[in-house]
Amino acid sequence: MTQAFDTINSQQIAEDIVTQLANSNRNLVSDEFEEGLDYLRKYLDLNILRYKTGTPCWTWNVPRKWRIRDAYIKQGNKEIVSFKEHPLHVMSYSIPVESKIKGEELLKHVFVHNHIPEAIPYEFSFYKPRWGFCLTHAQKKEIRPGENYEVRIDSELVDDHLSIGEYTVRGTSDEHIFFLSHIDHPYQVNDGLIGAAVHVALAKRLENERPYYNYTFLFVSETIGSITYLSHHEDLIPKIRYAVFVEMVGLDNPLVLQRSYKEQALINQYALYAMKKRQGESRGYPFLTVAGNDEKIFDSPGVGIPAISITRIDQEKRLRENREFQVRGEYRSAPPYPEYHSHLDNVQLVNYPKAGETVDYLYDLVRVLEEDFIPVRKFKGPIFLSKYDLWIDWRTDLEMSEKMLWLMYLLEGKLTAFQVAQELNMDFQKVLDILNRLHEEGLIEKRKIHAGFDR
Ligand SMILES: [Zn+2]
Repeated sequence: MTQAFDTINSQQIAEDIVTQLANSNRNLVSDEFEEGLDYLRKYLDLNILRYKTGTPCWTWNVPRKWRIRDAYIKQGNKEIVSFKEHPLHVMSYSIPVESKIKGEELLKHVFVHNHIPEAIPYEFSFYKPRWGFCLTHAQKKEIRPGENYEVRIDSELVDDHLSIGEYTVRGTSDEHIFFLSHIDHPYQVNDGLIGAAVHVALAKRLENERPYYNYTFLFVSETIGSITYLSHHEDLIPKIRYAVFVEMVGLDNPLVLQRSYKEQALINQYALYAMKKRQGESRGYPFLTVAGNDEKIFDSPGVGIPAISITRIDQEKRLRENREFQVRGEYRSAPPYPEYHSHLDNVQLVNYPKAGETVDYLYDLVRVLEEDFIPVRKFKGPIFLSKYDLWIDWRTDLEMSEKMLWLMYLLEGKLTAFQVAQELNMDFQKVLDILNRLHEEGLIEKRKIHAGFDR
């Protein structure tokens, strides 16, 4: 299969999944979330793990399922807002309510979007029983403190199961790389769903390979899905080398990296290397500063799996905005993109070629992960380079000829090939070529890098 064909194919898979699932009320535990997982089974033979409401997961518990049938705010016969008009008008996990209420009281339950007046914001209250409506600025203006309104939310919270979709491309070892995405943000695409769509395409590209690592893809409800999974797979934690969370990759910006909690983890360097190769530039930002999602669960206290996040957030612009807030003495953070957490984070905002290119990038990252190893010296004394056709004439290439000498000192089993390349300021691929030659000649041993190597 050629690269071009794969890219087009990835894009088509992403577009199909997004088109099919964008307009769905996919909430934490909901029938629509289940339907979403079910649709992904068109492409992958997902294993569905189910955990009962109330199940303890470390300090958390599996929440109840939310169902909603109808909701509105009325003044006399005039409907100000309704669930039927757009489901995001109702705060996710709203408890039921039916009452006549003064505008003043109602306004305490109303949310608007901070950045776009005409946007319907996405609001939720999963763990604190509350109810609320999400309105445009114009709709909010229609509610006057002294007047009377009729509100109704016909919802219920029932015991059921939290579901997690799991798919593994089997490797030859018992070690894992996890790819994480969440699909629980209703009617939104770049926040969540696009990551899952890209991961399905990546899994399809990997499924016929026999890699060293097991590549496990999780499709979860943000935060609680990852906590539930890890608390029920504690034995797996030491075997997970890294986790990679992906979202917001349908935006029209370059890819950016959010590094793992411990900066020394090699995944940070791998991710930047692959990024630079693919798009010519690479930017990385510290842990928890770009987007806090499931990577912060995998890389949390007592878990400690180095976990990164890959997005297409324009973080430079955002940092500039944050500095402006600071200057004005406001303690707030700019959104990752203007339409974030609103009904405008929809299919219109998705750049499918960018989503497809993200699959190519993640595939490159997998290649780097698979190709790195620890070279261990088997020779004594300096290698007789001419004998192996590795001698470089210092008269024509002094720099390379010196690097060949220094390379011989870096093969004591402490550094990976990638780190040797960094140490010598050489391209990884070039170092791999040399080390592969040494390996062919029986001069070095290749050791696998185990999870925990850089934790
Ligand atoms: Zn979100």
